[in-house]
This record gives sequence, structure tokens and C-alpha cells, in this order.
Amino acid sequence: MDRRTQKSKNPESGKEENNEKKKEKGMQIEGYQVEGLSIGGHETCIIFPSLNLAFDIGKCPQRALSQDFLLISHGHMDHIGGLPMYVATRGLYGMKPPTIIVPTAIKEDVEKLFEVHRKMDHSELKHNLIGLDVGEEFFLRRDLKVRAFRTYHVIPSQGYVVYSVKQKLKQEYFGLSGNEIKNLKSSGVEITYTTTAPEVAFTGDTTSDFIVDKTNIDVLRARILVVER
Ligand SMILES: [Zn+2]
Repeated sequence: MDRRTQKSKNPESGKEENNEKKKEKGMQIEGYQVEGLSIGGHETCIIFPSLNLAFDIGKCPQRALSQDFLLISHGHMDHIGGLPMYVATRGLYGMKPPTIIVPTAIKEDVEKLFEVHRKMDHSELKHNLIGLDVGEEFFLRRDLKVRAFRTYHVIPSQGYVVYSVKQKLKQEYFGLSGNEIKNLKSSGVEITYTTTAPEVAFTGDTTSDFIVDKTNIDVLRARILVVER
């Protein structure tokens, strides 16, 4: 756990020094805290602490360590270089094995990368590696899912859209008592429907072609779109 995060969340501890640290920790956009950095060719890692995830790992900045989910856009070193350190350092701190999502095209190579590091390091490097193809989805939580979308780069790459997922009561059941709803539910009636909304999208490296790709409409609808330029 990052103690500085804890501290800066406490309004009572608002000394100047803490405010200074808070400033360093990124910005608030559309209600989301956004942290990290993106320096083309050097390091890209964008962190959304409230979603418990980082997009790409760069050189594994300290603040990325506390995110349980890591979504990798492509295999260029400035986006994936810190991956073994991310897993190893979390292991060192006794944190739970992270879930790492990568394009299916590079999954096997990432597995090999960890095999080599395990051999050299004699450590377990525990993690959960998921290969995701464009259009495929993965639930990060019951109320949060991610979908990979097509991006246009010189090597296999993809971006990610994170959706909030909500169950809502169907209109015809409005006004029913709690008991009536409970009875309907237990009798097997589907009383809710699911709504999804694109919250955050991340492109990684891409040409602007992703914008005119009709399958990427949700990318442009997301409340926050993180693009590299
Ligand atoms: Zn790249």
C-alpha cells in the first residue's frame, strides 16, 4: 500500500507538504484521478487509481505498483519494459498477483519473458496473464469491464475501453415493494436489465486511423480518452 496515497486522501492532513505531493500525483478529470506519465520513446504508464488499473507500465513507476490490473497496448519497450519489475516488486511486497492483459499476439512472448526471468531470478513472479483480441472483453469487477479495440501502429497493438456496468430495474416494476420485487426475483423473473457506459479509453501508440474506424465508436464516446501523439 502506498502510504502517501492514504495520507493525501485525508483532508485533515492538508499541510503544505502534502498538498505539494498531491499536486505531483496527477490530475482530476471527469471525476477520475489520473496519474502517470507519457514520454514518447521513453516511458508510458497512465494510472487510474479508482479503477485499480494502469495502462502500459513504462519503466514501472512506483505508483503503478499498487494497481492490481495492468493493460498493455503493445510490445514496444517504452510501454512494456517495466513489466518484470512490476510483477517482481509486487511479489516482494507480498501483494496479490496482478492480472495483466496483453494483445493475444504477444502473449506467448510475454510468457517466455517471464520464464527467462524466473530462471535468472529463481523467483515465482506470480501473475495472471490474459490474452485479449480486438473486440474481446474481460470483467475487471462485476461493475467494470474492459474491451480491446483496434489501433494502428507498426507492430501488433490495441487500445482499451473501460466500461461501467450497471443493473437497473425494468420500468414495469417501478413502484413495487421490496418484498414484491424479491418474490418476482426468486420466481425467476428477469426484473433488471444491464446498461454499460464507456468511461475511460486508452489508445497507446497509434496513427489517427483509429478515429475513423467505425468499430471504435465507444472510444470516442468515453468520458476520458487518453491518446499518444
Ligand atoms: Zn510503440
